[in-house]
Amino acid sequence: MDANEKNPARTAAGNPVYSRSDTAKVNLSDNEWKKILPEEVYYIARMKGTERPWTSKFENFNETGTYYCAACGNALFRSDTKFESGCGWPSFYEPISKSSIIYTPDNTQGMVRTEVQCGKCKAHLGHVFEDGPPPTGLRYCINGVILDFEKAKETEKKYDQKKQQE
Ligand code: FE
Repeated sequence: MDANEKNPARTAAGNPVYSRSDTAKVNLSDNEWKKILPEEVYYIARMKGTERPWTSKFENFNETGTYYCAACGNALFRSDTKFESGCGWPSFYEPISKSSIIYTPDNTQGMVRTEVQCGKCKAHLGHVFEDGPPPTGLRYCINGVILDFEKAKETEKKYDQKKQQE
């Protein structure tokens, strides 16, 4: 088994709604989510928690591939839109598509912010700020716990390398 297959197997374990191919909206109660998500994922996704800064395995992580919602498998970000923000959480300047994210005003904790949620299952992902780099000027500040990464296919890379050698 290669690294590409390990990840979905782990996150999909005991999670019947996790799918990277089915794009239908997922609508479960918090109780139902609690049964199928690992505790730390539930805390972020459904309780709108925040992981401690600088703790994500995706902080210093520059592999080429795609980031998915760890709760439902929805494609969220491409690795080429990830950047070093210095804020302590994985940061991206653009989602993979318009419908991959839901935006909600968040005026809690004495701040005016915009919350970002998964467009498929409404999991809390993090917030978006207007201090990001070009071309969007946006910084999607995302809890690494709610991200699930898949490397670009090895076969694609090998094909590209072979083409270069010819
Ligand atoms: Fe989701």
